[in-house]
Parts: sequence; structure tokens; C-alpha cells
Amino acid sequence: MTEHRPPADLPPRIRHYIDGAFVDSIDGGTFDVLDPVTNETYVQAAAGTAADIDRAVAAARRAFNDGPWPRMLPRERSRVLHRIADIVESRDARLAELESFDSGLPITQALGQARRAAENFRFFADLIVAQADDAYKVPGKQLNYVNRTPIGVAGLITPWNTPFMLESWKLGPALATGNTVVLKPAEFTPLSASLWAGIFEEAGLPQGVFNLVNGLGEQAGDALVKHPDVPLISFTGESSTGQLIFGNAAPHLKGLSMELGGKSPAIVFADADLDTAIDATIFGVFSLNGERCTAGSRILVQREVYDDFVDRYAAQASRVRVGLPSDPSTEVGALVHPEHYAKVMSYVEIGKTEGRLVAGGGRPDGFETGNFVQPTVFADVAPDARIFQEEIFGPVVAITPFDTDEEALALANDTKYGLAAYVWTSDLRRAHTFAQSVEAGMVWLNSNNVRDLRTPFGGVKASGLGHEGGYRSIDFYTNQQAVHITLGAPHNPTFGKEA
Ligand code: NAD
Repeated sequence: MTEHRPPADLPPRIRHYIDGAFVDSIDGGTFDVLDPVTNETYVQAAAGTAADIDRAVAAARRAFNDGPWPRMLPRERSRVLHRIADIVESRDARLAELESFDSGLPITQALGQARRAAENFRFFADLIVAQADDAYKVPGKQLNYVNRTPIGVAGLITPWNTPFMLESWKLGPALATGNTVVLKPAEFTPLSASLWAGIFEEAGLPQGVFNLVNGLGEQAGDALVKHPDVPLISFTGESSTGQLIFGNAAPHLKGLSMELGGKSPAIVFADADLDTAIDATIFGVFSLNGERCTAGSRILVQREVYDDFVDRYAAQASRVRVGLPSDPSTEVGALVHPEHYAKVMSYVEIGKTEGRLVAGGGRPDGFETGNFVQPTVFADVAPDARIFQEEIFGPVVAITPFDTDEEALALANDTKYGLAAYVWTSDLRRAHTFAQSVEAGMVWLNSNNVRDLRTPFGGVKASGLGHEGGYRSIDFYTNQQAVHITLGAPHNPTFGKEA
């Protein structure tokens, strides 16, 4: 087994990055960052407060009002973004090493996420130059067109699961469209966020365009949401946090994009290719340690194949390799933090009273410390069970039988969430019919989480508000001003004229 060792050259502490310089908190406050394998503090990070947010927003505002970035041509910004993508790509192994250490993600999966972060930048670098202007003509009568302008200082608040990649998802479009930003990354995983600063400097992003404030959600995050000079917030995190942010942003009528929690169903019909469905639904809930917003964590299986599916699924789940995050053969690493570990383990205990445990259910052998959980499978879970309804966000899955298509649909929709759904069937008509009625922002038919970057990403119900991805991101991060001119004789009202 690979030995657990911190990566070389870890920073002595994690600081904010404001107006082109690394700085400590104004009040000197810090918080502990833990190694998920040992749960020992490996570094202190600056704990931002409202004063640090003020400072970061002021720097971002100066860069927006007086700096070159919002005024550069799209192709000039595009070049910087491509350079960012190049640098991320060239450092993917180091990024993955740090991300895996900080978050507990298996190293091979962290590497995939680092590469996806580069792709996100490249995608928005291309999109911003390829985008056609909106113009609408009424021949001989009217010309209408849309001016798109950056909005100002974008507040970006991100979670701890795949932090670097999810940050790129917001940073890419916010910067491509000419905004300046203040990023507040998750406090469990602040390590990779500070790497953006060096990458951006090297790529030539002007000073003050990117600002980073670390800290707790209820302090730094809250201050960012309430700051009057931050007109929009892009948030990814828990639904309950989203509700709070919605309320706090309301007095300022801020633009809001919310990517929230999920409890997504994977529906396996009896006519599905069971081998593929089992492989995919195993991956769908156990990859990324189960800390995946789109995890297919409720599997609904048609009665004819239910027993066979459960037996094979449980056997395969038991073979999923739990191991040290740095070990390339690891499939499930360590959960991010002892608080999150305790939450997941409490659901495992609840599950033992609500369903039939068929795989996992505790700590894996040989891992007496750290946040390691066996891939855990409960069968015969009733729809009113907490493990059917509540987001666990770990390697835990609930399996439930159904008989008819109508019952499958009712079970799939029997949740407050609506992020993703997965359908496994050989009947394409059935698959598309199901997609039309299932309450989910994204539906994968006989496929697993593969998404072209042009498509919208987002949920319905408690899973989110708005969509990002592709053109939707460009819409979110820009003001759109419609300009209208009448051609020929202007429209000439007769109001108030002499008869
Ligand atoms: P979280 O809501 O606890 O925290 C997310 C971020 O919000 C962190 O940076 C946190 O510091 C900040 N925050 C917390 N309280 C705040 C407040 N009052 N004001 C402003 N900011 C605040 O979420 P988490 O535990 O970090 O992430 C896991 C959750 O994220 C899961 O529910 C998961 O489904 C969801 N998620 C959703 C998507 C998606 O695209 N829909 C993607 C990834 C994760």
C-alpha cells in the first residue's frame, strides 16, 4: 500500500489574495485545515471577515472601473484564458496531488478534475470569440440589437467537492465576459484555490481582477453575499445554504445562480442492459467518494430483475477499492472532513434501521483513523425513509423496487430535489417519455454524467435556481441592453396633435 505523506512544498499557511498580493486577515484570524486521512491540522488558513471582503471588493471594483480587463476585446481576453488553460494543463499532476491531499479525492479522479478545469477555461476562451451578436431586423422598418456588458464584481462561492474544478466553472465565464471577481472557496478545502493566483499572474490577468478571500461561510461568505457593491452571486453548495443566501441577497435584488443539492434517481428497467447499468450506477454513486451533487444515490429497479440486480450490485460494491487518496489504485478515498464523515456515518446507522444492508456499513478494515467509509448499499428502502429522501453526499446508496413505469416516475419525483436522473432501458421511446416527465434539470439516458460543455447545467425544485454552462453562463455574467432604432420615417404618434 502507498504510504500516506503530505505533498512536498506545501505552503506554510494559506492566505487571501487581494489586489495582486497574498495577505493575511486584517484581524489576523485563522482556521485549521485538516488532512482527511489523519484529521490532523496540516496548515492554518486566513479566516476572512467582512473587513477582508470589503478590501477585496474594493480592489475588484477598482479593477473593474479603471482597469483594462472589462475594456479588452473578447479576443484579447480569450488569449489570457487560453494561457490559463495551458498552465493548468501543464500542472495537472501537481494540482491533482494537492487537491487529492486536501480533499481526500482519489488521485486519478483529482487528475481528471484538474483537466476538466483546464477545459472549462478553454471552452469559455473559445465561446467568447465565437459568440454571434444578437441582432434582429424588420426589413425596412427596424433594427434591434443587444449590447452585452460585464456586470461588475462577481461574488463566487464554492463547495469543497472537486473545489478546483467547480471554481473554474465560475471563474471561466465570469472572467471571459469581463467581470472582476471575489472568490470565497469552501473552508474544508482552501488549498487549491490559492493556486489560481499564481496561474492568473503568469497568464497575464491584470492586477485586481481576481481576488480570493478564505474563511467560514457565515463570516466571509455572508459578507460577500450582503456586500452592496457585488451585484451578482454564483453559489454552489447545500440547498439550505442557498435558501439563506437567497434571503440575504434579496434586499439588494442581486443576480443569483444557485447550484444546490440532489438526491438523484437512477431508474433501471427490466429491459436494460444490466451489466452496463450496474457498472454505471456503481460509478454514479461511488466515484468522487460519493461526494458528487449528481450522484445517482437512489436506484429504482424493476421488480423482474430486482433480486438479481441487488445481488450483483452488492457484490460489485463490496469490491470497490477504498484506499489512500494518493494511491493510483484507489477508487474511494477519504471523505473530506470529520464533521462530514460523522454525518455520513450517522446516515449509515439510520439506514440500518430503514433498509436491508447488503454491502458495507462501516469503516473498511485497515483504516482505523481518518474519514474512510465502506461503499454501503441498502436494499428494500421505502420512499418515506430518510436515506431515500435526504442527501447523504457520501458512498451510500438506497435501492428500491418498482413494478410499472408510472410507479417508477412517482418514486423518481418523490423528493424535494430535482438535479439529475438516469434512465436505463433498451426502449428509446420509454426513455424519452420518462425524460419528459421526470422532475430533473438533467437526464442521462443509458449514459452516465458525460456532458458537453455547451449544455446547461442546473437543477429544478430544491436543487437550484438558474442554469450555468455554455451560453447560459454568458447570459448570467452579462447585462443585456436591447437597442432599438426605427428605419425610414420614425414611428409618429398622433397624441396631442391638432386634429
Ligand atoms: P455548503 O452550503 O455548506 O457550503 C458551500 C459554500 O458556501 C462554502 O464556501 C461555504 O463556506 C459557503 N457558505 C456557507 N454558509 C454561508 C452563508 N451563510 N453565506 C454565504 N456563504 C456560505 O455546501 P458544501 O457542504 O460545501 O457542499 C456540498 C453541497 O454542495 C451538497 O449539497 C452538494 O449537492 C452541493 N453541490 C451542488 C452542485 C451543483 O452543481 N448542483 C455541485 C457541487 C456541490
